[in-house]
Amino acid sequence: MKVFLDAGHGGKDPGALGNGLQEKDIALSVTLKVGEILKRHNVEVIYSRTTDVFLELSERTNLANKANADIFVSIHCNAAENVNAKGVETFSYPNSTKGTALAKCIQDSILQSKIYTLNRGIKTANFAVLRQSNMPSALVELAFITNIDDFKILKDKQEELALAVAKGILNYLGVKYIEKTKIDCSPWAVEAMEWAKKLGLTDGTNPKDSRLI
Ligand SMILES: [Zn+2]
Repeated sequence: MKVFLDAGHGGKDPGALGNGLQEKDIALSVTLKVGEILKRHNVEVIYSRTTDVFLELSERTNLANKANADIFVSIHCNAAENVNAKGVETFSYPNSTKGTALAKCIQDSILQSKIYTLNRGIKTANFAVLRQSNMPSALVELAFITNIDDFKILKDKQEELALAVAKGILNYLGVKYIEKTKIDCSPWAVEAMEWAKKLGLTDGTNPKDSRLI
């Protein structure tokens, strides 16, 4: 499975601004964290950008299309003149059944994580990145950079947001999420440890416990 992750904006385009934060920085930080979680699950990850650089929208979709990615996920923050506007919403391209399913997986996962202030729902939009990508695509607006409660989430809960987005993507792909443990080992060992924990053989804190060998 190949996932194309697109951190919104970058370089000369800061995206939305609010409370001293720039959308491009939050989008990049969360996107890279999402990618790390996906890679841990043996999902191939391709990024539009991994640094603070500017790319045209068409460059982003060209990269995804050339790479033959299975899905395209663009990560953004919202903004509004009305500082009370807040919440999370995820977009797909109109009439794309798979895109809608992908958007729903991401939105639902964020709702489950409880890292949001308001559920604005899944929506469709004729965004260039959704229109020009050849694969199922979704664009998530994590929260409003212009709202004080949302801003706190964007500033302090990037790990949790990334985890929620990654879990949503994994769910769409049908890949089971595996908890990151403190033990640095391969996914199969983590699964074995989960199994041992379920059986009550271990609480997971001592992987070298002789009873496990
Ligand atoms: Zn944006």
